[in-house]
Amino acid sequence: MEKPYEIVIGLEVHVQLLTRSKLFCGCSTEFGAPPNTQTCPVCIGMPGVLPVMNRHAFELALKTACALNCEIAPFTKWDRKNYYYPDLPKNYQISQYDLPFSRNGYLEIRSPEAEGGRRRIGIIRVHLEEDAGKSMHDEKAGRADSRIDLNRAGTPLLEIVTRPDLRSPTEAKVFLQELKLLLNYLGVSDCNMQEGSLRVDANINIRVNTPDGPVPTPIVEVKNMNSFRAVERALAYEAERQYQEFLQTGKRLGEVPKQTRGWDDEAEVTRPQRTKEESSDYRYFPEPDLVPVVVTEAEIARIRASLGELPAALRERLERSYGLTAYDSDVLVSQGRPVVDYFEVLAQRCGEGKLAANWVQQEVLRYLNEKQVGIESFPIPAERLAELLAMIRERTLDTRRGREVFARMLTTGETATEALAALGFVDVSDEEIHALCRKLIAENPKTVADVKAGKIKAVGGLVGQAKKINPHVDPAKVREVCLRLIGELA
Ligand code: ZN
Ligand code: MN
Repeated sequence: MEKPYEIVIGLEVHVQLLTRSKLFCGCSTEFGAPPNTQTCPVCIGMPGVLPVMNRHAFELALKTACALNCEIAPFTKWDRKNYYYPDLPKNYQISQYDLPFSRNGYLEIRSPEAEGGRRRIGIIRVHLEEDAGKSMHDEKAGRADSRIDLNRAGTPLLEIVTRPDLRSPTEAKVFLQELKLLLNYLGVSDCNMQEGSLRVDANINIRVNTPDGPVPTPIVEVKNMNSFRAVERALAYEAERQYQEFLQTGKRLGEVPKQTRGWDDEAEVTRPQRTKEESSDYRYFPEPDLVPVVVTEAEIARIRASLGELPAALRERLERSYGLTAYDSDVLVSQGRPVVDYFEVLAQRCGEGKLAANWVQQEVLRYLNEKQVGIESFPIPAERLAELLAMIRERTLDTRRGREVFARMLTTGETATEALAALGFVDVSDEEIHALCRKLIAENPKTVADVKAGKIKAVGGLVGQAKKINPHVDPAKVREVCLRLIGELA
């Protein structure tokens, strides 16, 4: 059945850059300090002060824009965006209006809904601006108690605006995950949504399929989404709400002003907020206290060369070089570069990418999650784990025993060979296994007949006996050899 409507989503993402000091003064940007302890005359907007641009912040911004495939402007300037709000002590925000430092980029995401499984999400512009302070309203208590913390005021902020290229709430979530991963790989932001270093607003409308063709609903800006999951849920709710409204009122574009709605995570609904400002309300004008920034071709080339291998390229290389599935490469790359580096050493040394990927995902990541530590604190170096995986790969050790050896290596710091010896595991040769299987086949004609008759499961009886006779044999190998020998009997 054809869907009754198509969803159209564009995102506006604000990301705090990982600098030690603010964008136009020397105050610290560290999160969590007591309110108003990281401020100075510049960032609290005292009269007569002069801002000076933090070159490192601009460099991180350039890095991000290059990684997002944007065109970098050779000349960019600053503008004042005027608005009156208590968290903005100057009454204007230093931002970029008509000459942002970058535009026209894209980020490709993997989307099962898109043709070819990929969708290229256009980036309209990326610009740099300063963050505002934080208002803290005591709304729950019902008192008119609002306080202000200006520690955040002046923190470098990137604003990334996408084209309305996203076609579902899930794609919006995937885009944000991909963007966050990219920014983490670049080392430009920690993208911690809880601490507010990544914030998302979304523009969404739907195109309802009617006999007269698709009819768009008015665009709604959704705010107040505090996690990627909240983004997905808020947008799913909002699309359906717009459809219901369309069915009830038949409202056409233009009849209703553009609306801003806030997501209520507990009630799981969006509610109307103040009407959205038009850019003319902000009375932008050029910032007279800052010099424009000139970026040379050489500088852009240097930045591009410094980007390193980014997530999309890395995934593809892992799939190509180690034969990994898209799922496996995605899990590994999402863990960050150090986990990928660990995997690569493991895969190269043990000689099998898929086996290495399985062990990293199942055993290594489980340990890291349990202990809440990073790969740098993992007790078994990749070279040592590779020795164990090589044994499993060559079938001198079965997977179950492999896990026991692994568990011992984790706690003792022994090598695989040492742990193996300590556990008393003995290597069983191919000849021994074959001899054992031939003996069991000769002694169990009933089982053999069953297997021949198609009851393959019956071979389990032989495997069980083999384990009893020699606990060191690999059950999988016994099973395989028995089935082959029985097949040859026929
Ligand atoms: Zn300051
Ligand atoms: Mn902004």
